[in-house]
Amino acid sequence: MNCRIAEGMVNKYINHTLSVNDLEEFLEHIENCSSCYDELATYFIVHKAMEQLDEKQEDSVLDFRELLEEDIRKSRRYIRKKKFTGQSQQLRSVP
Ligand SMILES: [Zn+2]
Repeated sequence: MNCRIAEGMVNKYINHTLSVNDLEEFLEHIENCSSCYDELATYFIVHKAMEQLDEKQEDSVLDFRELLEEDIRKSRRYIRKKKFTGQSQQLRSVP
């Protein structure tokens, strides 16, 4: 994956509309590419800040970087779960 593709996926990542394969490649890319990670962090922070405005949690103090790291960890767990499920389905389909 190159940076242009990764940047195009930032919005989809934040809205959780990436396929498992795309998500995995995207996470792999941002892990090794600080400029795309920063791009993601910027969008993520804006997105979360707007969410908080909607929820009117004026007294909430949140570390957005930590939220992003947590989100990435959740995405990795999601990928592992999906892959495990896919594998067990394949195994079951073997006669
Ligand atoms: Zn990149």
